[in-house]
Amino acid sequence: MTTKILVIEDEERIREFLKRGLSFEGYQVETAADGQTGLDLAREEPPDLVLLDLMLPGMDGLEVCRRLRAASEVPILMLTAKETIEDRVVGLDAGADDYLVKPFAFDELMARMRALLRRAQPSKPQIYRFADLELDTGTRQGRRGGHLFDLTAKEYELLELFMRHPRQVLTRDIIFDRVWDYDFGGESNIIEVYVRYLRQKTEQSGMSRLIHTVRGIGYVLRDDG
Ligand code: CA
Repeated sequence: MTTKILVIEDEERIREFLKRGLSFEGYQVETAADGQTGLDLAREEPPDLVLLDLMLPGMDGLEVCRRLRAASEVPILMLTAKETIEDRVVGLDAGADDYLVKPFAFDELMARMRALLRRAQPSKPQIYRFADLELDTGTRQGRRGGHLFDLTAKEYELLELFMRHPRQVLTRDIIFDRVWDYDFGGESNIIEVYVRYLRQKTEQSGMSRLIHTVRGIGYVLRDDG
């Protein structure tokens, strides 16, 4: 599974430098030019690590850090141009895990990131719930109405994607990108096939449909019942 890095940095030159470098290293990179956009992205698609600039327009890096920390345990590496003990203490007080002073060498950044990612606790198993459907990220099993079912790796990834984005229409492109990671081409019916498998498992003994087709677009997890 790809490691997701969220970069929150207002300076375009540095943001693009980080995006290029980290993508080249195999990370999946999302970028935001301000704190609010960064927080929104973090909520939509929880990252494995956040690179956070201290000096941001509007909401500053410390406030962003506090809000990220209030919502999750994600490792946060703060970036700043100011090299003072006070900044460091304030940054760490706000919940940052480490601190890197600009300008920094890319190799040093990589080393710090790897250390933080190693230290990060493996995410605790959780149970996604939608209507009477449950998905356990620990056992990777699903359950509906007391009936437990196993899932193959791809079935699990697809169902997890739906459970993480309930009531949201997922386009075929998004599903390809997130679950298959490469382009199957427009003619492939792989998504249809896997949706059919999931429906067989989630609609046993005449249960109502939860994974609906949105014609010409994709699919949505929705409870019409
Ligand atoms: Ca800045």
